Amino acid sequence: MAKPCIFCSILAGELPCAQVYRDKDVLVIMDKYPINPGHTLVIPTKHYDTLLDMPQAEVGKLYASVPGIAKAVVAAVGADGFNVGQNNGIAANQIVPHVHVHIVPRFIDDSPDGKWPARRVPTAEELQKMAQKIKGKIPTARAK
Ligand SMILES: [Zn+2]
Repeated sequence: MAKPCIFCSILAGELPCAQVYRDKDVLVIMDKYPINPGHTLVIPTKHYDTLLDMPQAEVGKLYASVPGIAKAVVAAVGADGFNVGQNNGIAANQIVPHVHVHIVPRFIDDSPDGKWPARRVPTAEELQKMAQKIKGKIPTARAK
């Protein structure tokens, strides 16, 4: 690979992360700068820059895992709802050029001005705790 990719480095175990779940198709980790507590990323284990670079079958596997993870996130933090977001390209605010799906838990009164809540900077320990909490809500056989 020409330039190091943060998510590929995490997948290779070269960088730490707060891991929620992993199988052969996806890695699920906590976003380091969550919009709300419980903000989770679903990352394909194979590198693709954007959604447009992924074969359809791979997109299917990625998105098939999203509802189960979202259910666990919502249960873990007691959210009232959640957003699923996927940014493509710098103009769309894609920070890491390796496809990832954001699952952002939402609360009835978290956005009085109608804007996204400001991102937070939790400690690594807080992220690990949250990862464990969500992990505990994933039924082993149904996680995908
Ligand atoms: Zn990558």
